Amino acid sequence: MKTVEQYDFAGKRALVRVDFNVPLNEQNEITDDNRIVAALPTIEKILNDGGSIVLMSHLGRPKGQPSEKFSLKHIVKHLSETLNRNVKFASDCVGEEAFELSAGLQPGDVLLLENLRFYKEEEKGDEGFAEKLSRHGDVYVNDAFGTAHRAHASTTVVAKFFPEARMFGYLMAAELKNAEKVLNSPERPLTAIMGGAKVSDKILLIESLLDKVDNLIIGGGMAYTFSKAFGGNIGKSICEADKLDLARELVAKAKEKGVNLVLPVDCKIADDFSNDANTRYASNSDIPDGWEGLDIGPESIKTFKDVIRGSKTILWNGPMGVFEFDNFTDGSRQVAEAIVEATRNGAFSLIGGGDSAACIAKFNMDDDVSYVSTGGGALLEYMEGKELPGVKAIG
Ligand code: AMP
Repeated sequence: MKTVEQYDFAGKRALVRVDFNVPLNEQNEITDDNRIVAALPTIEKILNDGGSIVLMSHLGRPKGQPSEKFSLKHIVKHLSETLNRNVKFASDCVGEEAFELSAGLQPGDVLLLENLRFYKEEEKGDEGFAEKLSRHGDVYVNDAFGTAHRAHASTTVVAKFFPEARMFGYLMAAELKNAEKVLNSPERPLTAIMGGAKVSDKILLIESLLDKVDNLIIGGGMAYTFSKAFGGNIGKSICEADKLDLARELVAKAKEKGVNLVLPVDCKIADDFSNDANTRYASNSDIPDGWEGLDIGPESIKTFKDVIRGSKTILWNGPMGVFEFDNFTDGSRQVAEAIVEATRNGAFSLIGGGDSAACIAKFNMDDDVSYVSTGGGALLEYMEGKELPGVKAIG
């Protein structure tokens, strides 16, 4: 794997694709700078070598139009403070001003380009646009794992203009190494914990994991489709009526492949989709009409924890319940606690993708697991066995 580690950036201008798609509040202040922090090792390596940097990123979904709301100028102050230097800003990523600024960079300088998605060419993977971007650097570094599954101009196409000098940043390299460890060389037993709202979002991942894992735990909203598929009454719990056959097929496949598929047997139900709803515990196959399961119940928690504690490699994707409501976080919290305990006892734990990362952060356990991925869709696609265009482009 070609990474920044082996490259000497002295006197070079590095064009670095980062994922600075950070959340901003109404006052355009950054509410969580994890994505910036995650890119720091790569930025520091280049600067310490004596190179200069042109940073490029997207922010939100401006749909090919410039917009005040999605301007990356909002992050310049925070980025300057974080890097302890004055970050320059180009208000059009491929305008004349941007090329003048990048041409004038001195060792130690950092330039941030305006949101790439102000041009529709970015998401289209337009070659002319990619070529323009390539003029900003002598070397191309991709450190944006979160967008590695997109064949966009800045994540994929631009790499062809750097046949001799394209490489992964530290974040990208770490993401790939950790995902690979789970997929290709896990210490066993290997357990995947899947949760979240819908089975349909994760079918491909579940199918591909069935070839790899020893245990597959399924919780969260998607579990009710399984309960329903086997004749349970699930009240008004979230369910995908057109996926009942699929749920039965997945259970049969697990059996055929000798995978221990663990489904919840009980749940915490509510008479309304709200934190203040009335609650009770119920069997997953016997939820009264008008009630819905919003978290896993105590028996399921116990079984899930036992399986997790006995695992040597763990992948967690998706919460066990509606963790955004404090009264329905217990299942996710206890699963997280078991993962932390297994990690302390030597297991490797990868927390992957969007909501599970948000969950582990909410519980302040980020530092107690082996790795929290910054990629949502990208990690899922990688785990499904797909080749990511942004990874392939580096070669
Ligand atoms: P995903 O993006 O597919 O990982 O889904 C995450 C979302 O699933 C979170 O916002 C959770 O609130 C939601 N979720 C988890 N369990 C349930 C449930 N039992 N009913 C409804 N939504 C759920």
